[in-house]
Amino acid sequence: MISCKEYVEIRKKELREQISILSKNNRVPHLGVIQIGSNDASERYVKGKKKDCEEVGIVVTHLIFKDYSSYDTNNLKQVINDMCDISNCDGIIVQLPIPDKFDVEELQNSIPAKKDVDGFRRDSMFTPCTPKGMIDYLEYNNVNLSGELCVVIGRSKIVGKPMVNLLIDRGATVICCNSKTKDLKTLTQQAKIVVSAVGKPEIFDFSYFNESQILLDVGINLNASGKLCGDISRDVKDKVTHATPVPGGVGLLTRLALLENTFEAYKMNMGGIKC
Ligand code: NAP
Repeated sequence: MISCKEYVEIRKKELREQISILSKNNRVPHLGVIQIGSNDASERYVKGKKKDCEEVGIVVTHLIFKDYSSYDTNNLKQVINDMCDISNCDGIIVQLPIPDKFDVEELQNSIPAKKDVDGFRRDSMFTPCTPKGMIDYLEYNNVNLSGELCVVIGRSKIVGKPMVNLLIDRGATVICCNSKTKDLKTLTQQAKIVVSAVGKPEIFDFSYFNESQILLDVGINLNASGKLCGDISRDVKDKVTHATPVPGGVGLLTRLALLENTFEAYKMNMGGIKC
Protein backbone atom coordinates (compact mmCIF):
# COMPACT_ATOMS: atom_id res chain seq x y z
CA MET A 1 0.00 0.00 0.00
CA ILE A 2 1.20 3.52 -0.68
CA SER A 3 1.35 5.91 2.23
CA CYS A 4 -1.56 8.24 3.03
CA LYS A 5 0.71 11.18 2.23
CA GLU A 6 1.60 9.88 -1.24
CA TYR A 7 -2.02 8.93 -1.99
CA VAL A 8 -3.33 12.35 -0.95
CA GLU A 9 -0.74 14.11 -3.15
CA ILE A 10 -1.83 12.03 -6.16
CA ARG A 11 -5.52 12.69 -5.59
CA LYS A 12 -4.97 16.41 -4.96
CA LYS A 13 -3.08 16.73 -8.23
CA GLU A 14 -5.97 15.04 -10.09
CA LEU A 15 -8.47 17.27 -8.33
CA ARG A 16 -6.47 20.41 -9.16
CA GLU A 17 -6.47 19.42 -12.84
CA GLN A 18 -10.20 18.66 -12.88
CA ILE A 19 -11.06 21.95 -11.16
CA SER A 20 -8.83 23.87 -13.51
CA ILE A 21 -10.55 22.33 -16.58
CA LEU A 22 -14.08 22.91 -15.30
CA SER A 23 -13.49 26.42 -14.04
CA LYS A 24 -12.16 27.63 -17.42
CA ASN A 25 -15.72 28.41 -18.47
CA ASN A 26 -17.35 28.54 -15.05
CA ARG A 27 -16.78 30.01 -11.63
CA VAL A 28 -14.47 28.09 -9.25
CA PRO A 29 -15.79 25.83 -6.44
CA HIS A 30 -16.53 27.65 -3.18
CA LEU A 31 -16.45 26.40 0.43
CA GLY A 32 -17.97 28.35 3.33
CA VAL A 33 -16.37 27.81 6.74
CA ILE A 34 -18.01 29.05 9.94
CA GLN A 35 -15.78 29.16 12.99
CA ILE A 36 -17.12 30.02 16.42
CA GLY A 37 -14.54 30.95 19.03
CA SER A 38 -10.84 30.53 18.44
CA ASN A 39 -9.45 27.57 20.35
CA ASP A 40 -6.14 26.11 19.16
CA ALA A 41 -7.69 23.00 17.60
CA SER A 42 -10.20 24.96 15.48
CA GLU A 43 -7.54 27.42 14.40
CA ARG A 44 -5.26 24.59 13.29
CA TYR A 45 -7.99 22.66 11.46
CA VAL A 46 -9.30 25.72 9.61
CA LYS A 47 -5.78 26.76 8.61
CA GLY A 48 -5.15 23.28 7.18
CA LYS A 49 -8.45 23.24 5.28
CA LYS A 50 -7.85 26.69 3.78
CA LYS A 51 -4.39 25.64 2.63
CA ASP A 52 -5.78 22.44 1.04
CA CYS A 53 -8.50 24.41 -0.78
CA GLU A 54 -5.99 26.94 -2.07
CA GLU A 55 -3.79 24.11 -3.39
CA VAL A 56 -6.56 22.60 -5.53
CA GLY A 57 -8.33 25.82 -6.58
CA ILE A 58 -11.33 25.96 -4.23
CA VAL A 59 -12.11 29.45 -2.93
CA VAL A 60 -12.95 29.74 0.80
CA THR A 61 -15.17 32.21 2.64
CA HIS A 62 -14.15 31.99 6.29
CA LEU A 63 -16.50 33.64 8.80
CA ILE A 64 -15.04 33.70 12.29
CA PHE A 65 -16.98 34.73 15.40
CA LYS A 66 -14.16 35.24 17.88
CA ASP A 67 -16.38 37.14 20.27
CA TYR A 68 -19.62 35.16 20.22
CA SER A 69 -21.09 36.55 23.46
CA SER A 70 -23.98 38.27 21.68
CA TYR A 71 -24.79 35.25 19.45
CA ASP A 72 -27.03 32.26 20.07
CA THR A 73 -27.85 29.18 17.95
CA ASN A 74 -30.66 31.02 16.12
CA ASN A 75 -28.43 33.94 15.10
CA LEU A 76 -25.88 31.51 13.71
CA LYS A 77 -28.55 29.56 11.83
CA GLN A 78 -29.39 32.87 10.17
CA VAL A 79 -25.71 33.31 9.24
CA ILE A 80 -25.79 29.88 7.59
CA ASN A 81 -29.01 30.79 5.71
CA ASP A 82 -27.41 34.03 4.51
CA MET A 83 -24.34 32.14 3.37
CA CYS A 84 -26.59 29.88 1.28
CA ASP A 85 -28.68 32.74 -0.15
CA ILE A 86 -26.18 35.50 -0.68
CA SER A 87 -22.96 33.77 -1.58
CA ASN A 88 -22.58 30.94 -4.06
CA CYS A 89 -21.07 28.52 -1.54
CA ASP A 90 -21.21 24.97 -2.88
CA GLY A 91 -20.42 23.49 0.52
CA ILE A 92 -20.69 24.84 4.05
CA ILE A 93 -19.09 23.52 7.23
CA VAL A 94 -19.24 24.53 10.88
CA GLN A 95 -15.79 23.89 12.30
CA LEU A 96 -15.84 21.72 15.44
CA PRO A 97 -15.43 21.96 18.36
CA ILE A 98 -17.80 24.85 19.07
CA PRO A 99 -18.58 26.40 22.49
CA ASP A 100 -21.15 24.51 24.62
CA LYS A 101 -23.72 27.30 24.53
CA PHE A 102 -24.52 26.45 20.87
CA ASP A 103 -26.56 23.45 19.73
CA VAL A 104 -24.20 21.64 17.31
CA GLU A 105 -26.84 19.39 15.75
CA GLU A 106 -29.23 22.28 15.16
CA LEU A 107 -26.50 24.22 13.40
CA GLN A 108 -25.38 21.23 11.33
CA ASN A 109 -28.98 20.47 10.35
CA SER A 110 -29.51 24.01 9.16
CA ILE A 111 -26.97 23.45 6.39
CA PRO A 112 -28.94 22.17 3.36
CA ALA A 113 -28.31 18.45 2.67
CA LYS A 114 -26.83 19.27 -0.74
CA LYS A 115 -24.26 21.65 0.83
CA ASP A 116 -23.45 19.53 3.90
CA VAL A 117 -20.00 18.50 2.67
CA ASP A 118 -18.99 17.27 6.15
CA GLY A 119 -21.77 14.69 5.76
CA PHE A 120 -23.10 15.19 9.29
CA ARG A 121 -26.84 15.39 8.54
CA ARG A 122 -28.76 12.13 8.50
CA ASP A 123 -29.97 12.93 4.99
CA SER A 124 -26.73 14.53 3.80
CA MET A 125 -25.91 13.98 0.14
CA PHE A 126 -22.30 13.33 1.20
CA THR A 127 -20.45 10.62 3.10
CA PRO A 128 -18.79 11.83 6.32
CA CYS A 129 -15.22 12.78 5.48
CA THR A 130 -13.23 10.46 7.78
CA PRO A 131 -14.95 7.20 6.78
CA LYS A 132 -15.04 8.28 3.11
CA GLY A 133 -11.33 9.07 3.23
CA MET A 134 -10.48 5.67 4.69
CA ILE A 135 -12.67 3.65 2.30
CA ASP A 136 -11.36 5.51 -0.77
CA TYR A 137 -7.80 4.90 0.43
CA LEU A 138 -8.39 1.16 0.89
CA GLU A 139 -10.05 0.93 -2.52
CA TYR A 140 -7.27 2.90 -4.23
CA ASN A 141 -4.85 0.35 -2.78
CA ASN A 142 -7.02 -2.54 -4.08
CA VAL A 143 -7.64 -3.91 -0.59
CA ASN A 144 -10.33 -6.55 -0.91
CA LEU A 145 -13.11 -6.00 1.63
CA SER A 146 -15.70 -8.48 0.44
CA GLY A 147 -15.92 -11.43 2.81
CA GLU A 148 -13.21 -10.07 5.10
CA LEU A 149 -13.57 -9.59 8.84
CA CYS A 150 -13.21 -5.95 9.87
CA VAL A 151 -13.30 -4.63 13.42
CA VAL A 152 -14.26 -0.99 14.02
CA ILE A 153 -13.51 0.27 17.52
CA GLY A 154 -15.81 3.20 18.31
CA ARG A 155 -19.44 3.86 17.42
CA SER A 156 -19.62 7.64 16.99
CA LYS A 157 -22.03 9.26 14.56
CA ILE A 158 -19.26 10.78 12.44
CA VAL A 159 -16.67 7.99 12.36
CA GLY A 160 -17.48 4.56 13.81
CA LYS A 161 -21.07 4.05 12.64
CA PRO A 162 -20.70 5.36 9.09
CA MET A 163 -17.46 3.38 8.68
CA VAL A 164 -19.31 0.21 9.71
CA ASN A 165 -21.97 0.92 7.08
CA LEU A 166 -19.47 1.61 4.31
CA LEU A 167 -17.66 -1.66 5.08
CA ILE A 168 -20.94 -3.61 5.18
CA ASP A 169 -21.91 -2.07 1.81
CA ARG A 170 -18.71 -3.56 0.39
CA GLY A 171 -19.47 -7.05 1.61
CA ALA A 172 -17.21 -7.06 4.67
CA THR A 173 -18.17 -8.88 7.86
CA VAL A 174 -18.06 -6.14 10.46
CA ILE A 175 -17.83 -6.11 14.25
CA CYS A 176 -18.39 -2.73 15.89
CA CYS A 177 -16.85 -2.39 19.37
CA ASN A 178 -17.24 0.18 22.12
CA SER A 179 -16.08 0.86 25.66
CA LYS A 180 -18.23 -1.99 26.99
CA THR A 181 -17.07 -4.66 24.55
CA LYS A 182 -15.92 -7.80 26.33
CA ASP A 183 -12.60 -9.33 25.39
CA LEU A 184 -11.85 -6.81 22.65
CA LYS A 185 -8.46 -8.40 22.05
CA THR A 186 -9.83 -11.71 20.80
CA LEU A 187 -11.94 -9.80 18.28
CA THR A 188 -9.24 -7.47 16.98
CA GLN A 189 -6.71 -10.30 16.70
CA GLN A 190 -8.89 -12.13 14.17
CA ALA A 191 -9.67 -9.21 11.84
CA LYS A 192 -8.05 -8.42 8.52
CA ILE A 193 -8.66 -4.69 9.02
CA VAL A 194 -8.95 -2.85 12.33
CA VAL A 195 -10.18 0.74 12.46
CA SER A 196 -9.56 2.44 15.79
CA ALA A 197 -11.64 5.56 16.52
CA VAL A 198 -11.41 5.75 20.29
CA GLY A 199 -9.48 8.89 21.20
CA LYS A 200 -7.16 7.52 23.92
CA PRO A 201 -3.38 7.82 23.54
CA GLU A 202 -1.71 4.59 22.40
CA ILE A 203 -4.03 2.28 24.36
CA PHE A 204 -3.59 -0.62 21.95
CA ASP A 205 -0.26 -2.46 21.95
CA PHE A 206 0.80 -5.33 19.67
CA SER A 207 -1.03 -7.90 21.81
CA TYR A 208 -4.29 -6.68 20.17
CA PHE A 209 -3.10 -7.42 16.65
CA ASN A 210 -1.31 -9.84 14.33
CA GLU A 211 1.37 -9.17 11.75
CA SER A 212 -0.81 -9.65 8.65
CA GLN A 213 -3.30 -6.89 9.42
CA ILE A 214 -4.12 -3.44 8.07
CA LEU A 215 -4.64 -0.91 10.85
CA LEU A 216 -6.33 2.46 10.35
CA ASP A 217 -5.71 4.70 13.34
CA VAL A 218 -8.25 7.54 13.52
CA GLY A 219 -7.39 8.73 17.04
CA ILE A 220 -5.81 12.14 17.48
CA ASN A 221 -4.43 12.37 20.99
CA LEU A 222 -1.65 13.96 22.98
CA ASN A 223 0.75 11.62 24.77
CA ALA A 224 2.31 12.24 28.19
CA SER A 225 4.98 14.46 26.65
CA GLY A 226 2.40 16.53 24.76
CA LYS A 227 3.11 15.02 21.33
CA LEU A 228 0.42 14.02 18.83
CA CYS A 229 -0.25 10.28 18.76
CA GLY A 230 -2.92 7.79 17.75
CA ASP A 231 -4.85 5.10 19.65
CA ILE A 232 -2.36 2.44 18.55
CA SER A 233 1.19 2.33 19.97
CA ARG A 234 3.74 3.66 17.55
CA ASP A 235 5.92 0.52 17.80
CA VAL A 236 3.03 -1.69 16.56
CA LYS A 237 3.11 0.03 13.23
CA ASP A 238 6.32 -1.59 11.94
CA LYS A 239 5.11 -5.04 12.91
CA VAL A 240 1.95 -5.29 10.77
CA THR A 241 1.27 -5.35 7.01
CA HIS A 242 0.23 -1.70 6.98
CA ALA A 243 -0.72 0.89 9.58
CA THR A 244 -1.52 4.58 9.20
CA PRO A 245 0.66 6.97 11.22
CA VAL A 246 -0.50 9.81 13.48
CA PRO A 247 0.06 12.51 12.40
CA GLY A 248 0.17 12.08 8.62
CA GLY A 249 -2.43 9.34 8.25
CA VAL A 250 -6.23 9.40 8.55
CA GLY A 251 -6.18 13.16 9.21
CA LEU A 252 -4.85 13.72 5.68
CA LEU A 253 -7.45 11.33 4.23
CA THR A 254 -10.20 13.29 6.01
CA ARG A 255 -8.96 16.59 4.65
CA LEU A 256 -8.85 15.15 1.13
CA ALA A 257 -12.42 13.84 1.45
CA LEU A 258 -13.63 17.35 2.31
CA LEU A 259 -12.09 18.68 -0.92
CA GLU A 260 -13.67 15.85 -2.91
CA ASN A 261 -17.11 16.37 -1.34
CA THR A 262 -16.87 20.11 -2.05
CA PHE A 263 -15.97 19.41 -5.68
CA GLU A 264 -18.94 17.03 -5.97
CA ALA A 265 -21.24 19.68 -4.44
CA TYR A 266 -19.91 22.21 -6.96
CA LYS A 267 -20.60 19.91 -9.91
CA MET A 268 -24.15 19.29 -8.66
CA ASN A 269 -24.68 22.99 -8.05
CA MET A 270 -23.53 23.76 -11.58
CA GLY A 271 -26.21 21.47 -12.99
CA GLY A 272 -24.21 18.26 -13.09
CA ILE A 273 -21.25 19.39 -15.18
CA LYS A 274 -18.70 16.66 -15.85
CA CYS A 275 -14.94 16.72 -16.46
P1 NAP B 1 -16.16 9.63 20.32
O1 NAP B 1 -17.47 10.15 19.86
O2 NAP B 1 -15.61 10.07 21.63
O3 NAP B 1 -16.22 8.03 20.30
C1 NAP B 1 -15.24 7.25 20.87
C2 NAP B 1 -15.67 5.80 20.81
O4 NAP B 1 -14.66 4.99 21.37
C3 NAP B 1 -16.96 5.52 21.61
O5 NAP B 1 -17.84 4.74 20.83
C4 NAP B 1 -16.46 4.75 22.83
O6 NAP B 1 -17.36 3.78 23.33
C5 NAP B 1 -15.25 4.05 22.27
N1 NAP B 1 -14.28 3.71 23.32
C6 NAP B 1 -13.78 4.50 24.29
N2 NAP B 1 -12.89 3.83 25.03
C7 NAP B 1 -12.84 2.58 24.53
C8 NAP B 1 -12.09 1.41 24.88
N3 NAP B 1 -11.24 1.41 25.89
N4 NAP B 1 -12.27 0.31 24.14
C9 NAP B 1 -13.14 0.30 23.10
N5 NAP B 1 -13.87 1.37 22.73
C10 NAP B 1 -13.71 2.50 23.44
O7 NAP B 1 -15.02 9.94 19.31
P2 NAP B 1 -14.96 10.21 17.69
O8 NAP B 1 -15.56 11.52 17.39
O9 NAP B 1 -15.38 9.02 16.92
O10 NAP B 1 -13.37 10.36 17.58
C11 NAP B 1 -12.50 9.34 17.99
C12 NAP B 1 -11.06 9.80 17.86
O11 NAP B 1 -10.81 10.09 16.50
C13 NAP B 1 -10.73 11.11 18.60
O12 NAP B 1 -9.37 11.05 19.00
C14 NAP B 1 -10.88 12.18 17.53
O13 NAP B 1 -10.09 13.32 17.80
C15 NAP B 1 -10.36 11.43 16.35
N6 NAP B 1 -10.86 11.90 15.05
C16 NAP B 1 -9.93 11.99 14.08
C17 NAP B 1 -10.31 12.35 12.81
C18 NAP B 1 -9.26 12.41 11.75
O14 NAP B 1 -9.47 13.02 10.73
N7 NAP B 1 -8.12 11.74 11.94
C19 NAP B 1 -11.64 12.64 12.52
C20 NAP B 1 -12.58 12.51 13.54
C21 NAP B 1 -12.18 12.12 14.81
P3 NAP B 1 -18.78 4.17 23.99
O15 NAP B 1 -19.66 4.52 22.81
O16 NAP B 1 -19.20 2.95 24.69
O17 NAP B 1 -18.52 5.35 24.87
